[in-house]
Amino acid sequence: MLNQLQTYLEEMRSGLRSVSTTIWNNPEIGYHEKLACATATDFLKEQGFPVENPYCGLDTAFRAQFTNGEGPVFAFCSEFDALAGLGHGCGHNLICAGGIAAFCATAKYMKANDIPGAVVLLGTPAEESYGGKVKMEEAGCLNGIDAVIMSHPGRCNTDDNGASAVIGYEVTFHGKAAHAGGSPEKGINALDAVMLLFAGINAYRQQLPDTARIHGIVTNGGAAPNIIPDTASCRFYLRSTIEELLEPLKERFLDMVKGAELMTRTTAELSVFHLLYHASKPNGPMNRAYTRFMKEQGLEMLSLTKVGRGSTDFGNFSQRIPGCHFHFSISTAKELPGHSIEMREAANTDYGFEMMLKSSAAMSEIALLFLTDEEFRREVIEDFKN
Ligand SMILES: [Zn+2]
Ligand SMILES: [Zn+2]
Repeated sequence: MLNQLQTYLEEMRSGLRSVSTTIWNNPEIGYHEKLACATATDFLKEQGFPVENPYCGLDTAFRAQFTNGEGPVFAFCSEFDALAGLGHGCGHNLICAGGIAAFCATAKYMKANDIPGAVVLLGTPAEESYGGKVKMEEAGCLNGIDAVIMSHPGRCNTDDNGASAVIGYEVTFHGKAAHAGGSPEKGINALDAVMLLFAGINAYRQQLPDTARIHGIVTNGGAAPNIIPDTASCRFYLRSTIEELLEPLKERFLDMVKGAELMTRTTAELSVFHLLYHASKPNGPMNRAYTRFMKEQGLEMLSLTKVGRGSTDFGNFSQRIPGCHFHFSISTAKELPGHSIEMREAANTDYGFEMMLKSSAAMSEIALLFLTDEEFRREVIEDFKN
């Protein structure tokens, strides 16, 4: 099976490389991925697969499907959004090409060997910011799909070690402008409220369990130093590997917002700028299959015991149906921080691309195992239920 899949991947090699590099060269942030979406969908159409786009009411979401009669339905995901100011520092150009590769190779294998069932590719925008998968899941994109996987570039080859739940709040404090030199006593300083909120969170951080994170930035700190700022804003992420901890974390956060209001006599306005991403629920049998199929290609697999402190909207998919978010290495460096310039550069190397192809071959093998092996299918579903 692997040989045949590798032949399909070889045939698509230059096209897939072009998809990856085009997206890498033209980074687009969440819901603005017009070129990335067109590049991906054009390639799929050239390969002979019909594509639905827009999809789930989102301009840059898409769905491709190959059906070969009645049977199980297996899906892959392609992400393609970039990071504001950092280009493809998360390597989503490779996730996109990798998802397409796995989908096309699986479909071609199913056709050649008459394997019943269906394979789906979901093009999922805005992972880094506005939760494309959250909206797509709510719109029913997983209806009728039995399992879903994807693979993310990074420091090492590893199975899905889980991800934290996250929610993002924006707080805007309203005060009163006044001349900072001439009549500061007439002003109400909104920036002070932002800074006091940071002070409160910095103090609270010492009491946080290791599973939780709170981190933020100032998005508006006033217009000029000679004006007492009448508005000031900040954004915070609240994260936890244990999702139940998010609620008490949120309560403390809101208390601190209230405290900052009281101390400064400002008023605060709160909104959710980043939808809730659920903690991930990795699937044991699919994880073990990924490790096996990667090792069979001669790759070293790292087994991470710690749950990932980052987050992904794939968490929402994995809570709904059996799912796995695998990883593949794109650098031989010892360290490769996520969301970094080093990561961005690694995401467009020959080495990174080769590893993506191997990860895609492993994903195709998992899909085919799921479609053809009833016992494996049963194990995957049982694991999810437990
Ligand atoms: Zn990222
Ligand atoms: Zn990412």
